[in-house]
Amino acid sequence: MESQGKLSQRVLLSLGSNIDPRVNIREAVRRIGTLADVTPLRVSSLYRSERLGDAATTDFHNAAMTILTEISPDALLTALNAIEHELGRVRTVRWGDRTIDIDIILFGDIRMDTPRLTIPHPGFRTRPFVLLPSIEIDPTFHDIDGTPFTELLQHAVGRCERLEGTSPPLF
Ligand code: ADP
Ligand code: MG
Repeated sequence: MESQGKLSQRVLLSLGSNIDPRVNIREAVRRIGTLADVTPLRVSSLYRSERLGDAATTDFHNAAMTILTEISPDALLTALNAIEHELGRVRTVRWGDRTIDIDIILFGDIRMDTPRLTIPHPGFRTRPFVLLPSIEIDPTFHDIDGTPFTELLQHAVGRCERLEGTSPPLF
């Protein structure tokens, strides 16, 4: 789809929280959907996943969301970081407690690696809390090398379960 000379890309986002997670994920989804030049497409149910390492004190809730946008990956990351900040995220330790984490998993079929932004997201391939909600949104999601998410899931490690009754817009 072309408009104003720019290409609209489908972007896959992963959201995670372990502080008041239902409220924070829902609010982040709402704010992402109202960003300028962003059209929200789909949101997954909520999933509960075990924390990575010992930095966080409790398990996480996760969800995936797809959007359509014409803005650049860098501009989108800036907007997402602003939402993280508005929702009270304080950057402390890696994988530690957080009100909201919003990661760009895929951005169309773009591949990029800068100090600020790596796309596809470097860690997603082994993370069931990214793969499961993404597959719920679109079972045909695949890595930019063509590997289906459903295949990546077979090698993903960690507990992750869908929370019943959390289909959007319920959660
Ligand atoms: P993490 O998501 O690994 O728990 P942070 O959310 O604090 O940690 O992100 C650390 C940095 O990762 C951010 O400052 C951001 O610039 C960078 N980053 C690199 N690639 C991505 C991506 N695909 N999506 C989101 N952030 C990314
Ligand atoms: Mg992040």
